[in-house]
Amino acid sequence: ASGSDENDVVVIGGGPGGYVAAIKAAQLGLKTTCIEKRGTLGGTCLNVGCIPSKALLHSSHMYHEALHSFANHGVKFPSVEVDLPAMMAQKDKAVSNLTKGIEGLFKKNKVNYVKGYGKFISPSEVSVDTLEGGNTVVKGKNIIVATGSDVKSLPGITIDEKRIVSSTGALALTEIPKKLVVIGAGYIGLEMGSVWGRLGSEVTVVEFAPDIVPTMDGEVRKQFQRSLEKQKMKFMLKTKVVSVDTSDDSVKLTLEPSAGGEQTTLEADVVLVSAGRTPFTAGLGLDKIGVETDKIGRILVGERFATNVPGVFAIGDVIPGPMLAHKAEEDGVACVEFIAGKEGHVDYDMVPGVVYTHPEVASVGKTEEQVKTLGVAYRVGKFPFLANSRAKAIDDAKGVVKIVSEEETDKILGVHIMAPNAGELIHEAVLALQYGASSEDIARTCHAHPTMSEALKEAAMATYDKPIHI
Ligand code: FAD
Repeated sequence: ASGSDENDVVVIGGGPGGYVAAIKAAQLGLKTTCIEKRGTLGGTCLNVGCIPSKALLHSSHMYHEALHSFANHGVKFPSVEVDLPAMMAQKDKAVSNLTKGIEGLFKKNKVNYVKGYGKFISPSEVSVDTLEGGNTVVKGKNIIVATGSDVKSLPGITIDEKRIVSSTGALALTEIPKKLVVIGAGYIGLEMGSVWGRLGSEVTVVEFAPDIVPTMDGEVRKQFQRSLEKQKMKFMLKTKVVSVDTSDDSVKLTLEPSAGGEQTTLEADVVLVSAGRTPFTAGLGLDKIGVETDKIGRILVGERFATNVPGVFAIGDVIPGPMLAHKAEEDGVACVEFIAGKEGHVDYDMVPGVVYTHPEVASVGKTEEQVKTLGVAYRVGKFPFLANSRAKAIDDAKGVVKIVSEEETDKILGVHIMAPNAGELIHEAVLALQYGASSEDIARTCHAHPTMSEALKEAAMATYDKPIHI
């Protein structure tokens, strides 16, 4: 398909923001084309992000459990070993099945798919250098930029994806490094550090800030850090990497306290640079049509995802807001609904965040620190998984549920969960926040026994009254 007839909607980028916007647009009866340069759909998330990382987190967790926990459950093996190529193959299979699945969804919904690099030639025309080698012009009444983000490099550090890797390289190492240094204690660094740590690497995380995952509730973060330390992850906080020397067999990092001071060195076989991501708009021609961006290159949009150029919209990682796949998807749906003349809505305060380590940490709404800063009188209710029967039954009783509610009304302001399956448990809390529930609403809702979800109910009880089981 040439895509040269005028479309109602053209989406540049086939990541979670772009492909979801394209499908939704087609479902709303709009003639839609999606342009993607990668050759596969699904963007960062499916190809080199959420999905492959969760595949490796699961596989490495299974290995770690087999080594350290199975015997406690009466399951014994003479020996356990890692077959890294097989582990990587299972990850690759998951990725390719899912990316092909989106192609199938495009066909089903009649989204026209153009493989190639798009750049604006006017606010309603995109020139595409196709992967096959030609060029085509795709016209649209409305164009949505969903070009996502890319790895942020650090000054003086060159990523070669072999010894100095980004998350992309860390998802495809061919050997288990003896020593892995992770620069940046955000969720990506901690997840990838966990994968390789479980497989046997000695992992040191170097972080400029005083804390790991700065957006996390402080109390939960402390427990989380302790739990990672128990898993032998080492942390060097308030520390900056001054230089990285790759001239020798092992990589030598020179470090310095963030505030300045005496330098130290650290050796590694592999260094993972995970110090954040940056919006990707290279070669897109935004300046040509006059789309406004902020200082760090994010496209500025109004409430309806409209840029300053009429007919041009932007969603996902390329605009301000949490850089998460589910947020990009919500943006995509709402943006297209606005284009179709309907009402869309995304509330960034209700976007859950999950770190998929073991235990996982998930949160929604405000942290205790944020509520304190707002000057709102509040209550806190907590319940540890140590007192949860299901967690005890499966011998995985790690973590806590913490609820912060408004003192006067009991309305829930934030929920923070550290638990093996926190990423699933959090959605009851997201729904509660979305509907303005009180902690008593959750406490008086019947929860099946024995489930980890009962810990949320008990934490809710503890917020305005007393829990039963502790
Ligand atoms: P992207 O997914 O980046 O997609 C943009 C697409 O646009 C890309 O495929 C790109 O090739 C294409 N493109 C760019 N420019 C052009 C152009 N000019 N022409 C044509 N195509 C173009 N988020 C979560 O919510 N949960 C997780 O567990 C999670 N884990 C992650 C793990 C890792 C290692 C990484 C790196 C990220 C993770 N993320 C996770 C973040 C998530 O991947 C992003 O938030 C999400 O992919 C953003 O979606 P997007 O559609 O805005 O952009």
